[in-house]
Amino acid sequence: MSNRKQKNAEYMRKYRAERKNNPEFMENQRNNLRRFREKNPGYQSNWFNELPDKTERRARYNKNYSTKHPDKGISRRKAQRNVPLASKCEWCGSTEGLERHHEDYSKQLEVITLCKTCHTKAHQRLFYRALLALYLPSD
Ligand SMILES: [Zn+2]
Ligand SMILES: [Zn+2]
Repeated sequence: MSNRKQKNAEYMRKYRAERKNNPEFMENQRNNLRRFREKNPGYQSNWFNELPDKTERRARYNKNYSTKHPDKGISRRKAQRNVPLASKCEWCGSTEGLERHHEDYSKQLEVITLCKTCHTKAHQRLFYRALLALYLPSD
């Protein structure tokens, strides 16, 4: 991380910490947000959470994940029962830390075997693809 970035992050941390204890500021923030939402009714502030392919790492942090996305849990369980792991990662050939990966959770039995490293990459790829799709016109 560059020095400048670090400084900025520090500054933001301080900035937020100072204002968190300031009820007037917080009230102002809430009002701003409300006004913004009223002016932009179609705007989704939680667009990130609405992405269909957020990473599993994020999912682990999300306590309500399985209740919000029961289909993903079902897909994973079904795959675990029906699709055996391959003997090596289908992307890099590694034989360690193998995991099943769903490229598309609606296709429950279409799983590929990836190592931990490639699995992370696979989800980053899905994430950026979903992100890109928000900005590109669909044909
Ligand atoms: Zn791999
Ligand atoms: Zn996966």
